[in-house]
Amino acid sequence: MRDAGDGAGHDQADVGATSFERDHELTVLAKEKETLGQLDTALAHIDDGTYGVCDSCGNPIGKNRLMAVPHATLCMSCKQREERR
Ligand SMILES: [Zn+2]
Repeated sequence: MRDAGDGAGHDQADVGATSFERDHELTVLAKEKETLGQLDTALAHIDDGTYGVCDSCGNPIGKNRLMAVPHATLCMSCKQREERR
């Protein structure tokens, strides 16, 4: 930062950094909220015994994929089809 070490501009630089950090935190929070929502869905699937089953085709999602993405709701091929859309 250009003003670092310069007492005069210090406060303003701090404010800028703080608001930038807040924006960043909000982005991270929004992402975490999304992930939490997916985890909630995964937990609901565990409750009703459909955890690890693809939401789209009903096939097992696969252990490797679940280990990489524990809250996955689509199997690899459905996920890829979704991303191509
Ligand atoms: Zn599927």
